[in-house]
Amino acid sequence: YLRRNIEAHAAKEREFVEMTTEQTFIAVKPDGVQRGLIGPIISRFEARGFKLAAIKLVTPTKEHLEKHYEDLSSKPFFPGLIAYMGSGPVCAMVWEGRDVVKTGRAILGATNPLASAPGTIRGDYAIDVGRNVCHGSDAVDSAKKEIALWFKPEEIQSWKSAQFDWIYE
Ligand code: ADP
Repeated sequence: YLRRNIEAHAAKEREFVEMTTEQTFIAVKPDGVQRGLIGPIISRFEARGFKLAAIKLVTPTKEHLEKHYEDLSSKPFFPGLIAYMGSGPVCAMVWEGRDVVKTGRAILGATNPLASAPGTIRGDYAIDVGRNVCHGSDAVDSAKKEIALWFKPEEIQSWKSAQFDWIYE
């Protein structure tokens, strides 16, 4: 009986850890960096209770961006998008927490800032779809791919936030 109980407890623990360690790739785009929006964007994810696992400032190469946006390569705005994203430093980040991929998209707002509700990042800070200040992965699968493209494993920190037990029940 005791062993069953311990096993059930351990399984619950594992499930809890898995649920709270989902990761997403968030980037402040060159316009966001130039406009001094790194701080406000980080603040929104921090204040929500998500945990920063990796961060760096990088000016991505054309090849890197073509890989990152390969699904959009046939779009008419693709060349402009690659030029925009490579025009200066990008603040690349990995954020972690329960449902962070979907919730991160909600924090960002819609692709077109004019369709984004006030209170979202794009709805508060942007107007043009081609200058929408931030990126966020759109699914758990693409998050994994994007994190692997932008970060080496050793650049990603695994740590327990002091706030953890006050954020999760
Ligand atoms: P999201 O970034 O919200 O996931 P998409 O993957 O559809 O959106 O597009 C990637 C990026 O390409 C957008 O964030 C935006 O910067 C740019 N983009 C999308 N549609 C257009 C467009 N019609 N004109 C110019 N740029 C666009």
